[in-house]
Amino acid sequence: MSEAIEKVHCLIIGSGPAGYTAAVYAARANMNPVLYTGQEIGGQLMITTDVENYPGYPDGVMGPQMMDDFRKQAERFGTDIRMGMVTKVDFSGDVHKAWIDGETEIHADSIIISTGASAKWLGIEKEAEFARNGGGVSACAVCDGFFYKGKKVAIVGAGDTAAEEATYLSKMCSEVHMLVRRDEMRASKIMQERVLKAENIIVHWNTETKAILGETAVEGIEVINNKTQETSTLDVEGFFVAIGHSPNTKIFKDYLDMDETGYINTKPDSSKTNVAGVFASGDAQDNEYRQAVTAAGTGCMAALDAERYLAAKGIL
Ligand code: NDP
Repeated sequence: MSEAIEKVHCLIIGSGPAGYTAAVYAARANMNPVLYTGQEIGGQLMITTDVENYPGYPDGVMGPQMMDDFRKQAERFGTDIRMGMVTKVDFSGDVHKAWIDGETEIHADSIIISTGASAKWLGIEKEAEFARNGGGVSACAVCDGFFYKGKKVAIVGAGDTAAEEATYLSKMCSEVHMLVRRDEMRASKIMQERVLKAENIIVHWNTETKAILGETAVEGIEVINNKTQETSTLDVEGFFVAIGHSPNTKIFKDYLDMDETGYINTKPDSSKTNVAGVFASGDAQDNEYRQAVTAAGTGCMAALDAERYLAAKGIL
C-alpha cells in the first residue's frame, strides 16, 4: 500500500529572514506551518559576520547568531522546521503540490516562497572546483578575506558589493586587484571614492578574467584588456567574485510570473503571485532592497496574506 500524502495548511520554502518571519506569523495564526530549510540553512546571513543595520540589535549581531534567534522564535510557536529541499512543484490545481528532495510529495493549501538568492559566478574553469575545496575562490570577502591576510588578491565586479568587499579586503590584504569589465563602475559614488582612495586597491578598467591558474589552488589569474586585447598575469592567491546574485526561483518558472532575471512578480502592495494561494517574500521577489529587514517584512506580509486566503476559503 502506498503511503498517504501529507497535507498541510501552509508550506514555507526557505529559512532566511523571510521564511522564518513568515513562520512566526503563520504559527501564531494557528496555520501549523511546515518549513523546509533548503540547502543553505539560514540563508545568506549565515555567510555574513557583523549585521549592524537590523533594528533591535544596538551593538550589532553576527549573521549566524541572528538566524539562530530567528529559528528559535519560529520554533517557539510550533513551526515544524524540516531539513530538505523542495525540488519540484505543481501549482496547476486547487491544492498546491511540492516534492521534497525529489521524493516525498506534500500537498499544501497555501505556499510561501522565501527561497532567496544566491551569488552569481563567472563560469570559468576551476572556479567552482576551487570555491568548493577552499582553493582560493570565494563569493564572500567578509567570510573568507581573513585567510588572505598580508596576501595579494583579486576581486571581480564593479557594483556596490564589489566596491564594499574590495575596501574590506584592502584593510587586511597587501594588494587588491579590482577587475572592472567596463571603463566605469556601477557602484555608488561614495563607494567608488573609497575604492579609489585606498592605496592598495589597483583598479583594472576594461578587464576580464580569462583563466584561473594553479593545480589545486589559486596561484594567479590571467586577465585580458577587452579594449586592447592585451593579456597579462596577476600574481594573486585569492580570487573573489562579486558580480551580483540570482534568485532561487527556477523550480517555479512554469507556474509563476517573473521578470527576465527570474525575480517573482508580486501584485502591488502584497505578496500575492499570479497563482492564488502562492505567496512570495524576500530576495526571491526583491531585486531592489535585498535587506534582512525588508525580507523579514515581506515574510510577515506573506503569512498575513496566506492567513486571509485560507480564512476566505473557509480552511482556517
Ligand atoms: P550589481 O548587479 O549592482 O553589480 C554587479 C557588478 O558585477 C556590475 O558592476 C557588473 O558589471 C559586474 N558583472 C556582472 N557580470 C559580470 C561578469 N561576467 N564579469 C565581470 N563583471 C561582471 O550587484 P551588487 O551585488 O554589487 O549589488 C546588488 C544590489 O545591492 C545593488 O542594488 C546595490 O546597490 C546593493 N548593495 C548595496 C550596498 C550598500 O549600500 N552598502 C552593498 C552591497 C550591495 P557592469 O556594471 O558592467 O554590468
